[in-house]
Amino acid sequence: MTETSVANRPGMALHTKMLIGFVVGVVAGIAANLLAADAPWLEGLIAYVTDPIGQLFLRLLFMLVMPLVFSALVLGVVEIGDPRALGRIGTKTLLWVLAVTAIAVTIGLVLVNLIQPGTGLPPEVGEGLIAASSDRAMEIATAREGVSGIQILLNIVPRNPVEAAANGDLIAVMFFALMFGIAATVIRSQGTRSFVDAVQGIYDICLKLIGWVIALAPYAVAALLFSITAKLGFDVLVQLARFVGTVLAALAIHFFVVFPLLLRAFGGMGPITFLRGAEPALLTAFSTSSSSATLPTTLKVTVDNLGVPSRVARFVCTLGATANMNGTALFEGITVLFLAQFFGVELTIAQQVMILVLCIFGSIGAAGVPGGSLPVIAMILAMFGIPPEGIGLILGVDRLLDMCRTVVNVGGDMAGSVVIGRSEGKAESLQQAA
Ligand code: ASP
Repeated sequence: MTETSVANRPGMALHTKMLIGFVVGVVAGIAANLLAADAPWLEGLIAYVTDPIGQLFLRLLFMLVMPLVFSALVLGVVEIGDPRALGRIGTKTLLWVLAVTAIAVTIGLVLVNLIQPGTGLPPEVGEGLIAASSDRAMEIATAREGVSGIQILLNIVPRNPVEAAANGDLIAVMFFALMFGIAATVIRSQGTRSFVDAVQGIYDICLKLIGWVIALAPYAVAALLFSITAKLGFDVLVQLARFVGTVLAALAIHFFVVFPLLLRAFGGMGPITFLRGAEPALLTAFSTSSSSATLPTTLKVTVDNLGVPSRVARFVCTLGATANMNGTALFEGITVLFLAQFFGVELTIAQQVMILVLCIFGSIGAAGVPGGSLPVIAMILAMFGIPPEGIGLILGVDRLLDMCRTVVNVGGDMAGSVVIGRSEGKAESLQQAA
């Protein structure tokens, strides 16, 4: 069921239902946390009702990600067809990712230097938080081994594409799909044409299934937000308010100032039109904290609501779901500097520039799943002699920040698609005129 067909039915539009689900989840969750925290019925409600509903929705989305990524990228490349156009869209996507991510990290670094959130925290609060999350912090510190330095680049090429798919290694699957698509464009035989038709079939089926899953979103959004707010409440947030405030302010500047400026200047689209069209994907990003889980919705609204040609959207959004993470890069920069301030590690300007570069590549290498950036942060911390256990300090508030940075990540994919889609339209009309 598509957004339009839902909207055409006598009831409410899907995005209105999702907003209602969101408000209901938050209000009920906070009320439950205030009135009945630790009550057995609340724990039961979360464990047996709201968590499973949220998990069901996430699983349904994740189930579709691999076939969708493979088919969308193969078709994206085949549809672009002309290798020159492919090179052009590829180069523009790369430029967009690098430039806009660099802007994002810079905003983060400037704000964290101005606000200095790490210097005001009482040491006992810090120690308590680190102790409370030490197990999880250890897990993350161990996981970082897989993402060290040159390994991030090597990991892009899978040894075994089936293994990469089974492990949820999206970047490697994308590389494989891109190569497959390029080869299928170069050989134009009967066999490759039937293959492409079959891939088109997979893609169409995935989109149909996504339509069905998205119809469940309002209920899932309510359930996911209830679980989070009922468990966390506001206490932890208050303790880390300055850190949270810095991250949120930087994300807001990037989302509400940088994106609108870029969209106006290069995409010919006003911010309100963008926000209205993008809303279902932004809400899905907020409630799932995962760019990958949001990808199906992102693709759909980018084509249907924002009017980006599907060949551009498939390419930019699919790659963008793991490689273009503005919010994540900004968050990594702030967190590293916050923890440096907290542990009293002095960083020179040169080191901060190095952190900027690492955050850009770290965001490309981070997985589009909840907490995907944490292993990368642990790696950067260790490189600068900042205790990686410090991650424990931010885990309590990470979920909320993850939700917000994922919105910025997904927003960046859609804004990039609009800008690149428009410039491709221009390039094509110039070619036709010539
Ligand atoms: N949750 C983020 C995403 O999927 C990644 C991260 O920053 O942890 O976009």
